[in-house]
Amino acid sequence: IGCPPTAASSPSCPVASLGVTDRPSTPALLVELDTFDANLAAMGARHPGPALRTHVKAFKSTAMAARVAAAGHPTFCCATIREVEGMAAAGLGEDLLLANEVLDARRLGAVADAGARVTVAVDSEETVRAAADGGVREVLVDVNVGLPRCGCDPGDAGRIADLARAARLEVRGVMGYEGHVVGLEDRAARLAGVEAAMELLLAAHADVGGDVVSAGGTGTWDINTWATEIQAGSFLLMDTAYGQLDLPFRQALFVLGRVISVNRAQGYAVADVGLKSLGMDHGNPTIDGHRVWFCSDEHVTFAPSGDTDLPAVGDLVRVVPAHVDPTVARHERFTVARGDDVVDEWPVDLRHW
Ligand code: PLP
Ligand code: MN
Repeated sequence: IGCPPTAASSPSCPVASLGVTDRPSTPALLVELDTFDANLAAMGARHPGPALRTHVKAFKSTAMAARVAAAGHPTFCCATIREVEGMAAAGLGEDLLLANEVLDARRLGAVADAGARVTVAVDSEETVRAAADGGVREVLVDVNVGLPRCGCDPGDAGRIADLARAARLEVRGVMGYEGHVVGLEDRAARLAGVEAAMELLLAAHADVGGDVVSAGGTGTWDINTWATEIQAGSFLLMDTAYGQLDLPFRQALFVLGRVISVNRAQGYAVADVGLKSLGMDHGNPTIDGHRVWFCSDEHVTFAPSGDTDLPAVGDLVRVVPAHVDPTVARHERFTVARGDDVVDEWPVDLRHW
């Protein structure tokens, strides 16, 4: 918990001023800015400038993206048309990749007409036609490298590229996301998985041409040495799933809640952070020094482990999500904190579709 009422004015309590002066409405998404900046610097040291194509879907915030761009990384990956539109409208349209298939690209064409650089993934005749009809000018051929999701067969990539060129689209290269291996805890297994996936992608690239080989994620940030750009996003904020891997990135995101009920007889407490404020597809959240029993719609029930004390009603509690992206997508804004102080508020303005 870290912020018992008696310690609320202590400078070592990172959310003290939130509890004492601002009385935040909870649940609230809390970002620790120094940790965020350290995560960005660690990634940027290995992947300077456009070698990092930060994935916007992890945080859905143009204010956060602007901080990434200001650190020298102006190229971004998006998962939805809305993210592309919002990024361009915020002046962050230098080089936006929609790393996803779309069947109606007219809104993307409009963004490109307004001056942003927009590239869209294609993996079929239909998506090539949609890109051309919608007025998009540039594409990447999306290749299936083992994740059973989008992407053409590696052997079909050359044909898709030919179709695209015949439709007067510029083919910038290939993308192939190795999502089936990014979360493998065993580093050797992760490396072997990436190697096999990138062999498929490079074979496709030989047939497609272009400068770009776009792939990678937070879990393969340092072992995918084949991609020309890494499409990572979770590393900025982190979650407990990625926290189990051997990564240098630290937890920068918390859902701040308040203890609303305590059962002393049975030794558990309840805070107002339920599954409606968390992405739960990677499992329960964690709370430092406690064991989470379960989440329901608007509650998390938890009990102290070791020699931690039961919290009191009204205490603030920092809940660590198991999966960052769907957690963020359930909130309207980030509360940005540095040490004890709330320094900013960043809207999650790229939510919805
Ligand atoms: N690229 C694509 C297309 C993705 O869908 C994802 C995440 O799901 C990533 C890259 C990697 O993101 P992360 O930073 O979460 O590993
Ligand atoms: Mn994710």
